[in-house]
Amino acid sequence: MSTEKHVVVLGAGVTGLTSALFLAEAGYKVTVVAAHVPGDSSIEYTSPWAGAHWLPHARANEPVICDWDVQTYEHWLGIIRREEEDPTLPPSGLKQIDSYELWDKNPNYEIWYAPHVEAFRTLSASHKPISAINEKASLASADLPEIQHGAYYKAMCINVPRFLLYLQERATSLGVRVLKAHLPTHGVLSATLSGTADFVRLETGRPKPACFVNATGLGAKKLCGDDAMYPIRGQTVLVKGEARSTITRVGDGYRAYCIPRPGSGTTILGGTKEEGVWDETPDARVTEQILRLNALQVPELLTGPEWGFEVVSVQCGLRPARRGGPRVEREKVGDWEIVHAYGHAGAGYQNSVGSARLVVELVGEGVGAKGLAAKL
Ligand SMILES: Cc1cc2nc3c(=O)[nH]c(=O)nc-3n(C[C@H](O)[C@H](O)[C@H](O)COP(=O)(O)OP(=O)(O)OC[C@H]3O[C@@H](n4cnc5c(N)ncnc54)[C@H](O)[C@@H]3O)c2cc1C
Repeated sequence: MSTEKHVVVLGAGVTGLTSALFLAEAGYKVTVVAAHVPGDSSIEYTSPWAGAHWLPHARANEPVICDWDVQTYEHWLGIIRREEEDPTLPPSGLKQIDSYELWDKNPNYEIWYAPHVEAFRTLSASHKPISAINEKASLASADLPEIQHGAYYKAMCINVPRFLLYLQERATSLGVRVLKAHLPTHGVLSATLSGTADFVRLETGRPKPACFVNATGLGAKKLCGDDAMYPIRGQTVLVKGEARSTITRVGDGYRAYCIPRPGSGTTILGGTKEEGVWDETPDARVTEQILRLNALQVPELLTGPEWGFEVVSVQCGLRPARRGGPRVEREKVGDWEIVHAYGHAGAGYQNSVGSARLVVELVGEGVGAKGLAAKL
């Protein structure tokens, strides 16, 4: 069913592209306008820097975000199952994988997602891989506490460069146009939206937008003056080889994780969470710590000289965090309807399906086409 309504999505990260795809599937004419698109590399474009995997950060007292995570898990599993049944489908870059969360101390929060994931079970210090990692740490005289607790379940890891292209390809196959442009951030938002509407009309001949979606990530800090936005920097190391599982170890003041990028022959090793840090230059001491901690948990990737990793690159990305949590809501800005969708911090991928479905619902309310999202 076509609504004939034109929606302009600002931003081509995982949030903007998933929203654009779902809006197109709901029958809207969609144009994406973004300074950076899949294939681009910039510190102002977070999505390509992510690991990424499905591992909830939301706590049980954040039911909306927990629900987004669950919706994404189920939707992604559907994509993976369809690809297994029909290998001629374009690859999404998603893969179901054995996932381990390991803690030096008992985590003091509820693992609310246990009933929502496949094969969940808790692990004690005598279970693998905990026993193997503790033993290695002891042999290497690593100055680390022992891991005491763990959880195993089946989740997903993502080849993020591939997944962003997949979203874009699926969206454009439904008529979504993607335009590259940097929107001015020094003016008032209503004037920026009017200018963008003119730009889109000139470039595409499409009619005046009935609604905008603001999926500009950290860019929203300047674009709409949201001072609650701040970066959480993450430094990672890309190494050769694909780890057999994802492992995320959390201890006092540190974390170590490995996330294979399916089909790429590489794995992301992390990493840091540095609040308020905008600098994109990696820290050599952090790189050394990431490699040292991960050597204990992914020995299968120690294929380089002297039992080391084969490092491909070292990089930093800025998670788009927001005090008060992600902003997914409608606003009237001058004459324009806008739905904001930004501030997903370290969970933009695993939130993406639930968040985008809410975007479609809010756009529907804004343009008077309520109910269209129900089938998605
Ligand atoms: C190291 C690291 C590891 C991570 N791991 C995970 C993980 O395992 N799982 C997970 O779910 N998430 C993870 N994340 C978080 C995830 O990457 C982000 O939440 C997500 O990428 C945010 O996507 P976005 O689309 O909201 O923003 P972005 O990807 O930053 O996209 C913003 C878009 O807006 C555009 N834009 C901004 N300002 C303007 C402007 N003025 N004019 C025009 N266009 C503009 C940009 O060009 C871009 O296209 C990780 C992040 C990092 C850094």
